[in-house]
Amino acid sequence: MARFRARPMSTFDVINPATESTIGSVASHSLEETDRVIEKAALAFESWRKVSPGDRARLLRRFADLVDTHQEELAQLEVANAGHTISNARWEAGNVRDVLNYYAGAPERHSGLQIPVEGGINVTFHEPLGVVGIIVPWNFPMPIASWGFAPALAAGNAVVLKPAEITPLSALRLGELALEAGLPEGVFNVITGSGSIVGWRFVTHEKVAKVCFTGSTDVGSRIMAGCADQVKRVTLELGGKSANVIFADTDIEMAASRAPGGVFDNAGQDCCARSRILVERSVYEKFLEHFESAVTGFVVGDPQLETTEMGPLVSDEQRRIVESYVPEGAPIAFQGNCPTGPGFWFPPTVLAPVSPTDRAVREEIFGPVVVVLPFEDEADAISIANNTPFGLSGSIWTENLGRALRVARGIDSGNLSVNSHSSVRYWTPFGGFKQSGIGRELGPDALDAFSDVKNVFISSES
Ligand code: NAP
Ligand code: MG
Repeated sequence: MARFRARPMSTFDVINPATESTIGSVASHSLEETDRVIEKAALAFESWRKVSPGDRARLLRRFADLVDTHQEELAQLEVANAGHTISNARWEAGNVRDVLNYYAGAPERHSGLQIPVEGGINVTFHEPLGVVGIIVPWNFPMPIASWGFAPALAAGNAVVLKPAEITPLSALRLGELALEAGLPEGVFNVITGSGSIVGWRFVTHEKVAKVCFTGSTDVGSRIMAGCADQVKRVTLELGGKSANVIFADTDIEMAASRAPGGVFDNAGQDCCARSRILVERSVYEKFLEHFESAVTGFVVGDPQLETTEMGPLVSDEQRRIVESYVPEGAPIAFQGNCPTGPGFWFPPTVLAPVSPTDRAVREEIFGPVVVVLPFEDEADAISIANNTPFGLSGSIWTENLGRALRVARGIDSGNLSVNSHSSVRYWTPFGGFKQSGIGRELGPDALDAFSDVKNVFISSES
């Protein structure tokens, strides 16, 4: 890992959360170094924006191909650095490849309008913004980075990317692969360092035209306020407290067997985690019975093993935060297993019955802790699901199609699934209602978030 050490400067250690061993040392960039990279990106932007759409597409496709041939290496980096299970990490590296390929198809298709007007025509252009600053959290370092940089680059922007301090390795490797693919020097830059120095500089530096932030609602709202000073464009993907709503008419055994995957995947460190399970009262006990065997059977352990379903939490700090939601005397209905010894382990934990005012019901935990609450009818289910400042994701389990549609329309959330827990497909839009964010990522319209519309009138009369 020594190759990540650029030159003598302040550094921080990178820890394997499953073993607590140090696996590398990465530069912590200063304000001056951050400014230098932003200036370099601003310069590179001037030529990148002029690269023909077809050539930009070809370079992004080459980048995607290199990610594909390095899929296993990237996945192994994420297992070691973030404790992701190997099967998840392979999916994540594959997702970066797919996102790059999808947006590699976009540059030639990002066309404007021609609008007939009296005395000539109006034509519109999608102009790139300039340097786009992308700030990424530690929970899904690779996919979240690519949801920003792939459409940003496709639209003709230069990118400065700041991974979370504790999970920088995969982003650094992607930066190397971009260069190897032939992207011009300065177009795609990875800057490691702390949020308050490197990340905040994206907000204050006048040559960063947009900030694309994924992380906590707390930091996100400060970034939005900071961006207001320069009327800087901003996209925010923030926290969640999503509901998994289970109606009595569904196959309860099946819904119970699928519920752990909806909340404990990535050890619950998922903004889309269905961390509130709402169950129709008539089947509440029956659900808990089946859910108990699913939770105790959930395989927690060495993330390198393909049979493992859940690894450790990302850091000791995160484990302490999660533990605070399960204090002495907490209403634990049942818990799964986890390894003892080194590693930031926490077992899958189910809280029930639990008061609706409990912190664990109201706040995002970002760990493998779920609350189970009963509801009376459809209206009650929608009202409980919406009783949160968040609105990111959620699931609805019912055999009744009309009810599925009514409840899906009733829940104030950006991404819902019926009889499934999947939230993310790169070709469909993703983002949050309410305090879960502003703007959308992925899907066919993502380039619009990385460009401004220019309207030009051409007179036919002079
Ligand atoms: P976080 O503390 O908000 O940090 C996210 C990123 O912002 C990190 O790179 C962090 O850098 C940086 N940062 C921190 N303070 C900053 C500042 N003052 N200015 C600029 N950047 C700053 O969030 P986290 O603890 O990493 O991640 C967990 C949160 O992310 C959860 O709330 C989760 O719901 C949310 N999340 C949302 C989505 C979504 O798509 N909606 C996806 C994933 C995660 P350093 O940590 O390196 O200092
Ligand atoms: Mg943080």
